[in-house]
Amino acid sequence: MPEAPDLEVIKEYLNASLKDAVVEACKVLRPTVVRSLAADVTGDLPGRTFLDAQRRGKFLTLRFSGGRSLVINPMLTGALQHCAESVRVQKKTCVVLSVGGGMDLRYLDDRQMGKVYYIRNGEPGDNGEAGGEAQDELVPQYTGLGPDVLSGITLEDFQARLKKFNGEIKGVLTRGAFISGIGNAYSDEILFAAGISPFKKCRALKPEELETLHTQCRQVLEEATETLRSRMGSDIHKKVRDFLKVHNKGGQPCPKCGGNITQLNANQRITSYCRHCQPGLLIRN
Ligand SMILES: [Zn+2]
Repeated sequence: MPEAPDLEVIKEYLNASLKDAVVEACKVLRPTVVRSLAADVTGDLPGRTFLDAQRRGKFLTLRFSGGRSLVINPMLTGALQHCAESVRVQKKTCVVLSVGGGMDLRYLDDRQMGKVYYIRNGEPGDNGEAGGEAQDELVPQYTGLGPDVLSGITLEDFQARLKKFNGEIKGVLTRGAFISGIGNAYSDEILFAAGISPFKKCRALKPEELETLHTQCRQVLEEATETLRSRMGSDIHKKVRDFLKVHNKGGQPCPKCGGNITQLNANQRITSYCRHCQPGLLIRN
C-alpha cells in the first residue's frame, strides 16, 4: 500500500518528468476503478496539459489545464507506472494515459480496490490544496481527512485530535481521520521508533509517550521519504520497503535489542513489533 513517503516521492517524480506534458490519449482498460465525475475521462482528458501533482494523505491529485484533475486513491494495491509505450502492458493495468514523447503513465491495480476520480477542479494557478470544494464533495473519504502527517502538525493539535479517538494506537494512526498518510507499514515503524506497543489503547498513552509519538510520526516518515528519494528512481510502480526496521520482518533480529521481531497477521494486516522494546499486554489473540 503506498503511504505518504511513497506518494510524496512519486509526486516529486511526476512533477519533474511530466512537466508541460500534453495528454494525447486516455484508455480505460478496467472501468471498475474509474469514476468519471466531471466528464467522460477518455474523451475529455486528451488535449489537456499536465500542470502538477499534489498529495494529501494517501491521495494523489494530478491537475490538468482547463480545471480538471485525476484524483488517485491507490488503496491497497494501486500503483502508477511511467514507461515507454512499447513496454508490455501488464494484466493489472487499468488506465493508460499517453503523455507524449512515446511515454505512458499507467495506473495498475491488481485487485482493483483503488479508485481514479476524474473531477472538475479549481482554475489552473490556484493552489487547489489538492482539491478544493468540488473534490471534497465528490471523492469519498476525502471529506474529513485529517491533516497530512508531513504537514507539520503541532503537538497540541496532535493531542487534541487524538482525544476524539478510541482503541488501539496502531489502528488510530492508520485512520486518515486522525492524521492522513500513515498506513500499515509505517505505523509499525513509527510505533517501533517510539517504543510503544501497537496494541496500547490510545487513551492510555502517557504525556511523554504522546510527545515521542508525535515526534516519531514526522521523523520516521521524513527519513523514509529521504531514503525513497534516493532509491525509487523512475520505477515508481515498485515498492521499496527493504529498509524498514520491523514491518514484515517477523523472526528477524530487532535492530535495537537483538531479540526476535514478533509478527501477527490479523484481518489480512500484518503487525510487526518487538515485545521487548515495545512492551505492553497483547489483548488481542
Ligand atoms: Zn527490541
